[in-house]
Amino acid sequence: MAAPAPLAALGDPDPAFADLIAGRPHLSAHARDGLMVEEVPLARIAAEVGTPAWVYSAGSLRRRARALTGALAAAGLDASVHYAMKANDSLAVLALLHREGLGADVVSEGELRIARAAGIPAAGIVFSGVGKSERELRLALAEDIFQINAESAEEIAMISAIASALGRTARVALRVNPDVDAKTHAKITTGRAENKFGVGIDDALKLYRRMASLPGIAPVGVATHIGSQITAGVGAYRAAYARLAELVRAIRAEGLPILRIDCGGGLGIPYRDEPAPMPEALAGAIKATLGDLGLPVMLEPGRWIAGPAGLLLASVVIEKIGAQRRFVVADAAMNDLARPAMYDAWHGILPVAPDALVAPIAPADVVGPVCETGDTFARGRALPPLPAGSLIAFLDAGAYGATMSSTYNARPLAPEVLVDGTRFAVVRERQSLEALLHGQRVPEWLRE
Ligand SMILES: *Cc1c(COP(=O)(O)O)cnc(C)c1O
Repeated sequence: MAAPAPLAALGDPDPAFADLIAGRPHLSAHARDGLMVEEVPLARIAAEVGTPAWVYSAGSLRRRARALTGALAAAGLDASVHYAMKANDSLAVLALLHREGLGADVVSEGELRIARAAGIPAAGIVFSGVGKSERELRLALAEDIFQINAESAEEIAMISAIASALGRTARVALRVNPDVDAKTHAKITTGRAENKFGVGIDDALKLYRRMASLPGIAPVGVATHIGSQITAGVGAYRAAYARLAELVRAIRAEGLPILRIDCGGGLGIPYRDEPAPMPEALAGAIKATLGDLGLPVMLEPGRWIAGPAGLLLASVVIEKIGAQRRFVVADAAMNDLARPAMYDAWHGILPVAPDALVAPIAPADVVGPVCETGDTFARGRALPPLPAGSLIAFLDAGAYGATMSSTYNARPLAPEVLVDGTRFAVVRERQSLEALLHGQRVPEWLRE
């Protein structure tokens, strides 16, 4: 009997195209039309809109919003969801999620104004972030948004001063840093004592007391957000929420008012084949740790809702076959989808043409045209021949995709397309070259 091969020797092959498609309900492979999003062939979108282009599935956005609110309701929680719009701030996406009953978690004046423009009422908006400016806080108070999450003693003083001067009362939740390790990428972990976010758990009671004593502030609750792309189970959530529960009991013991608990976001998604926790598990963790306090809870998911619902559609500019490696050069780049360069993120890559989906595969490096070695989407990825003009799709790019893009290398921002059943619409036009130049001028003394 042969000894079993050691695991390392078996390697860790990337998921097959069929598995990537099967795991994403808005995707299908059609024998004639190739890769489709819902009922629309991606080749049709490329022909009408050009590439690169972001493509979002309305069906998946709805399904995911409902899965999340459904899991919270099934756990018996009185819960509301405020979508963290930094993940994807498209007006159309926000309008769709608003129709599903979601509010918005905003982190800037721009986001607040976009949320309002998408039809989300002020009563559905929470303002988070470690550096809200005086101007932003004034706007939040003038709009009378639902809640401001305060992140420091200094900010509490600032909110009190601004609100008092305006003759308003700010509904403020205290963002607490529970000092737990969410076991995610160092750039997106936020709940350790050394991170910049929130107030230390040991100072929280004192600061909550202070909030209650200051003019212009109505303390409404406590909040936390421990990190993003959390895939290592819900243990870190449980640990964080257990600490919040202790804090809530201490607040109540002093007779201070507390109306709700903001549980943050961070739920991870499987980009490759990570065993990401389901919303039911998160709802269970909330129920187990906070359930007996009898308070409404809030959730601020971004990535979990929007990430899997979007892709970046690109064309191959050139397939460069060298002695050592094959390079597939796409017309999308790190300025469009920054995650691989920024976090070493893995994104599934699918060919779009029907024959390419079943052709023999061989390793290739998939890169963009930007003048940086970091402009690499994948190394050694098993892909079919992809001659110039072939279409490819970078999967799970619906969150932290378009919102993180830049115009580096003077590349205009790519358009965004929403697919809904058999329909699709351009929901953000491709940035024009005129727009790239807009607002720039050469000073007079350099003109001659
Ligand atoms: C970014 C952020 C979120 C959303 O994080 P996801 O990982 O996208 O769910 C929620 N709350 C706050 C305060 C954030 O900064």
